[in-house]
Amino acid sequence: MKIVVIGGNAAGMSVALKAKRECKTAEVIVITKENQISFAPGALSFYLKGAIEDEALYARTPDSVRAAGIELYLQSPVIEVDTVLKSVTFLPHNQAQKGEKKTLTYDRLMIATGARPQDHPLKLKHYHNVYTFKSFFEVDRLKKARAEYKTMAVIGGSIVAVEVAQTLSSMGIKTYLIHRGAYPLDRYFGASEKERILESLDAQGIECIMGATIEAIKAGQLNPSTLTSLLIHQEQDTRWIDIDGAVLALGVAPNSELFGSLDGDGLETTANGAIEIDLYGEPSLQDHYA
Ligand SMILES: Cc1cc2nc3c(=O)[nH]c(=O)nc-3n(C[C@H](O)[C@H](O)[C@H](O)COP(=O)(O)OP(=O)(O)OC[C@H]3O[C@@H](n4cnc5c(N)ncnc54)[C@H](O)[C@@H]3O)c2cc1C
Repeated sequence: MKIVVIGGNAAGMSVALKAKRECKTAEVIVITKENQISFAPGALSFYLKGAIEDEALYARTPDSVRAAGIELYLQSPVIEVDTVLKSVTFLPHNQAQKGEKKTLTYDRLMIATGARPQDHPLKLKHYHNVYTFKSFFEVDRLKKARAEYKTMAVIGGSIVAVEVAQTLSSMGIKTYLIHRGAYPLDRYFGASEKERILESLDAQGIECIMGATIEAIKAGQLNPSTLTSLLIHQEQDTRWIDIDGAVLALGVAPNSELFGSLDGDGLETTANGAIEIDLYGEPSLQDHYA
């Protein structure tokens, strides 16, 4: 049995290790874009604050996984999947620059390609002082530039947005939390809890701007790649706020581009591009999992 796993974080490594434990004779191969595995974004706030070192962001090391008998390809993006021939083609790290591809066949394929942070419709990711909060690279970039920021906006109202706002505020940064919903975390809590959350964030010095949309932006005159101001529309009120930087926490989009063309060919995707699976993680295509 040859099992190929695409993606080496929480989902991919759990499946790979479980498969190897359950079936010692199975050949288990993990292929991931990153140079590390088992990354835990839940600890990024602690890293940003300086409470932990970067090693603590990874639950396992590549060596420990290889020692468990798993073949691991790091920094090796998969560029093609053929579900009929049952093969994956990727750019192995050492050969990537030369454009040499490697193709492996599989008996079973686990698609654990995860998701990426979404941009704001005004394409804010394009500005160098705007960050997302999912990868080590982005949060490390923010950490290194932290001294430049006295005022920041966190855009979004999710758990990640609230966590980032609390972290920035605790680091002495004047923080705005800008959310189009009426309350932060409004998808998860009832009315009384939502009021208490708002009060608590206020007590932590976070200025919550709720029911708000960003209508326009200004960039620096000398440095047009720096975002400097946001035009906030809230009920009848429209005002500019000046910021030194921003964090986008607007949810994620599935990394399923590789499989979009297979839609209708057994591997169905939802409207947002996620691969449809049943209760057992099986898409409608036999021997393929997500
Ligand atoms: C700030 C933050 C805090 C969080 N806190 C918690 C928490 O406290 N508790 C909790 O349970 N969850 C938490 N989460 C959510 C949790 O981190 C995610 O659910 C989890 O990381 C998802 O893991 P995954 O393996 O499915 O996907 P991902 O982590 O997205 O990993 C997918 C991997 O696949 C790779 N990949 C993608 N495409 C390809 C390709 N073509 N070829 C090769 N490799 C590819 C990617 O590079 C990546 O390494 C948090 C998330 C964030 C952002």
